[in-house]
Amino acid sequence: MTKIITTEIIINRFKKTHGMRFGYDKVIYKSAKDKVLIYCFESDDKYGIHAYFLQTPDNHSKGKTCPKCTGHYRMNITDFIEKS
Ligand SMILES: [Zn+2]
Repeated sequence: MTKIITTEIIINRFKKTHGMRFGYDKVIYKSAKDKVLIYCFESDDKYGIHAYFLQTPDNHSKGKTCPKCTGHYRMNITDFIEKS
């Protein structure tokens, strides 16, 4: 028996990985490789609220986060290296 993955199932999977960090109201699941629209609740000085970004369900359920969060994180690391 093949288990059919629905939008509801994939959202539950995302929540197991990321908790309440992201919003999934615009997610429409087609396949693991078809990008879905995810909402990031984080905000910072550079971008303001991060809002929506596109990512494959595959990557997101493996722990990949929003590109703006990732960029921000990398920037902080660079700052840290430069100052030390
Ligand atoms: Zn973000």
